[in-house]
Amino acid sequence: MTTCTTPDCYRVTSLYLCTDCIIELDSLLADVGPLLQFIGGAIDQTAVTRSPGASGGGGGHAKSQPAMNVDAYLLRAWLHQLPERAHATAMDNPKAGEILFMARDWVQRARDLVWGPEDKRVYGQCEELLEGEDQDDDPIPCDGRLVAHPDDVTVKCPSCNTVHHVSEVMDKLRLKARGVPMPPRAVREYLQRKTKVVILKKDFENWVQLGRLRYVLDRVTTTRKPQRVYYPGDVLRVFEYMHGRRRMRV
Ligand SMILES: [Zn+2]
Ligand SMILES: [Zn+2]
Repeated sequence: MTTCTTPDCYRVTSLYLCTDCIIELDSLLADVGPLLQFIGGAIDQTAVTRSPGASGGGGGHAKSQPAMNVDAYLLRAWLHQLPERAHATAMDNPKAGEILFMARDWVQRARDLVWGPEDKRVYGQCEELLEGEDQDDDPIPCDGRLVAHPDDVTVKCPSCNTVHHVSEVMDKLRLKARGVPMPPRAVREYLQRKTKVVILKKDFENWVQLGRLRYVLDRVTTTRKPQRVYYPGDVLRVFEYMHGRRRMRV
C-alpha cells in the first residue's frame, strides 16, 4: 500500500493511481480520439478568418501564407503522447500521476479549442441520409452542424431535426478514425502518406506478436486464402501508445 502519485492527492492505493484518479483519467482519455479527429480543423482555422473568401479558389488573396494555429498544433502533439488506457497506466507507470496532471490541462485546452467554450460542444455533421428532391436521386447526407451542451445525452440537428444520441455520434467518430482495413504494408504506406508517421516493418510485426494489434480477415477474394488486414486507426493508436510510453519513461 502506498499513496496515489497524482499531485495533491493523498489517497491510499496499491497501484500508481487511486480509484478516483483512474476514473478521472479514463474520462479524459475517452475524449482524446474525437478531439484528435477535429483538431486539424482548428489548426487551419486562423487561415480562414484572415482571408475571407479566399477558400473559394482563384481569389486575389491566394498568395498570402496561411497562418497556422500554433497552439492547436502543439496541443495535437501533446495529446498524441497520452496513453491509451487509464488502468494500464495506473498499473505500470510510476509517473501516472504526472500524466493525469498533464492530461487535465491538455484535454481541457483541446476541448475549449475544438468544441468551443464549456457550454457547447461541436460534434461535426449530422450525415443523416435525406431523400433527394427527385425520387430517383440518391439520398444525400445532411450537412447540419451538431452542437450540444456537454451534459446533453441527445443532440438535435438544426437542419433536418433528426435527434441523435451523443454516444452514437461519438462511436461514429471513433469508427471514422479507424479507417478501412488493409494489409500491413499498405497500412504503413497509408499512415506515412496521411500522418507522416513512419512505422518500421519490424515494429509492426512486433506489435502483432505482442498481441497489441488486432486483425480482421479479408474474405473478399475467393481465389486466395483470406488475408489478415488491419485498421489504420488501430495501428496509429498502437504507434502513439508505444511512442508515448517511450517518452514518458525517459
Ligand atoms: Zn489519486
Ligand atoms: Zn440533419
